[in-house]
Amino acid sequence: MILVSACLLGHRTKYDGGSNGNTLLMEAYQAEIIVFCPEVMGGLPTPRPPAEITSGSGNAVLEGKSTVLDQNGRDVTAYFICGAEKSAQLAIEHNITAAIIKQRSPSCGSLRIYDGTFSHKTKPGLGVTAAKLHKLGIPLYSEEELTPELLQKLLHP
Ligand code: SF4
Repeated sequence: MILVSACLLGHRTKYDGGSNGNTLLMEAYQAEIIVFCPEVMGGLPTPRPPAEITSGSGNAVLEGKSTVLDQNGRDVTAYFICGAEKSAQLAIEHNITAAIIKQRSPSCGSLRIYDGTFSHKTKPGLGVTAAKLHKLGIPLYSEEELTPELLQKLLHP
């Protein structure tokens, strides 16, 4: 069983009310996939203002050393941590073996995240939920590295 970011499957959970539909994933959508959106699970509405981690990455947020602010300056850290914790619970309950999650998101980024300046610049690092799943030892992949072969390998290890 693998986790997949809801927005990658066409769910309109993105901050602006849109999605990041990935054709490969949407065509392969089947029983083995658990759809999740940490920000919505954490209690944030859709649409919502974009948010970014202010310094460091998701690990720093989980350790209480950094925060997540939205573009209006509102502190939304607690929602992001709640979403990460619920995602981890979901992963444990379903014996998740991998997660395909949206690159650059402050929740789901697995290699890079936005740098906190709301200027579309990125920096290396994990999003808050990605950091939580990484702590559980779950391999993380983004839509950018997904191929049909990798998807089949993840679905049928
Ligand atoms: Fe997609 Fe993750 Fe953002 Fe939800 S939190 S909209 S799943 S990138």
